[in-house]
Amino acid sequence: MPTKFTGGCTCGAIRYECTAEPIVMFNCHCRDCQRGSGGPYTGVVYVPAKAFKITKGTPRYYNTQSEAMGHNKRGFCPECGSRLFGGITGEGHGITASSLDDPTLFRPQFDIFTSDAQPWDHMDPKLPKFERYAPQN
Ligand SMILES: [Zn+2]
Ligand SMILES: [Zn+2]
Repeated sequence: MPTKFTGGCTCGAIRYECTAEPIVMFNCHCRDCQRGSGGPYTGVVYVPAKAFKITKGTPRYYNTQSEAMGHNKRGFCPECGSRLFGGITGEGHGITASSLDDPTLFRPQFDIFTSDAQPWDHMDPKLPKFERYAPQN
């Protein structure tokens, strides 16, 4: 993963950049990610908050319940509805892997919330799996 990478939403109203290596990358199979993304899971690139910057536009945010954090602050484009961010805290900022300008950079290290995974969700058997959160997450 390069130390600088960029991405944005489908319509281009929201653009962002990150200037550090991700802290961690993983796939979240929880129901909120299923509903929010429209797919079986969300690929998450979790980066240091201080290295993340929105360079164009203003996302809207919607909080979902989170056992680990009280709520999960999720960001999306108010124009086109693309899901962009999640798990936003003072320290870290989650970016959806599919919003990267080069999504081939994404290298998931494990799967979480596999207890919510759908039968039609085909996971990489080589990745460690956690029914809920990964240890330390
Ligand atoms: Zn948009
Ligand atoms: Zn999730």
